[in-house]
Amino acid sequence: MPLYAFFHGKLVLLSEAKIGVMTHSLHYGTAVFEGIRGNWNSEQRQLYLFRLKEHYHRMHEGCQVLKIDLPYNIDELCQITVELVEKCGFQEDSYIRPLAYKSTEAVGVRLHDLECDFLVFAFPWGPYLDMDKAKCCVSSWRCPQEVPRAKLAGLYINNALAKTEATENGFDEAIMLTSEGYVAEGSGENIFLVIDGKLITPASYNDILMGITRDTVIKLAENELGIETMERPVYRNELYTADECFLTGTAANITPVAEIDRRKIGTGEIGEITRKLQEIYSDVIRGNKPKYRDWCTPVYKKSGI
Ligand code: PMP
Repeated sequence: MPLYAFFHGKLVLLSEAKIGVMTHSLHYGTAVFEGIRGNWNSEQRQLYLFRLKEHYHRMHEGCQVLKIDLPYNIDELCQITVELVEKCGFQEDSYIRPLAYKSTEAVGVRLHDLECDFLVFAFPWGPYLDMDKAKCCVSSWRCPQEVPRAKLAGLYINNALAKTEATENGFDEAIMLTSEGYVAEGSGENIFLVIDGKLITPASYNDILMGITRDTVIKLAENELGIETMERPVYRNELYTADECFLTGTAANITPVAEIDRRKIGTGEIGEITRKLQEIYSDVIRGNKPKYRDWCTPVYKKSGI
């Protein structure tokens, strides 16, 4: 099945969407990206895009930081994305990668006097952390301090260093600390702990990306399980002694953490609250809970493609 991209203002084959070697963002990381999930509902034969508007809202904020003037508003970006995914015709879980970037072919570190462009492509993709429970380590790479918290391409270099260090040392994912030594987040996920029946997660001022899955989990825990979330600085030590731990992200969904720095978390199995949240989340993102249907954008006009 051919894959497509929206590139230079129109839908083209993904294999034909190419940029020049001098493109500014390739050299200096001057781009803002997003990751959006398409979740397949096999009974309804429908693909739902989860919290599409929120993703483009966050992208718009990143563009504001990088002085990228997007030629599309949030509604237009949503529309382009639905048309792209509809054209791809996926009947499985998939992933959508929008990118707003400095497109001028020019050398020189700056943000001004550069053209911008927007592209988006999509492909079938199952779970990102492809295991039922993850083994993590605390990374020797820390989150950069005093940088804008947005999905800016150039900001991801420490995350890439952390992920590869973790993988080469036999772990599935890295947990990064802030420069003060508090827990921040995974290389591509936010982190939650369960302590005494409550959820704890690093606060907005702990150098984290404000994840859309993080926000979803906080709301679902409150509404569906009556569990409150405390957003506060988290000590490294609390990682080891928590009853449960899990990672959240668009790509990773809710991934339970079994082990951190070779210490079992709780029983080392998937915790009770984590499992409940996973079940609720999986229903919500597939459009199975009418209460949360506003978060789900159907791609196919008629179900049963
Ligand atoms: N932190 C980082 C560093 C990420 O890259 C991501 C993935 N976008 C997240 C957290 C989770 O964010 P979201 O739930 O919006 O995907």
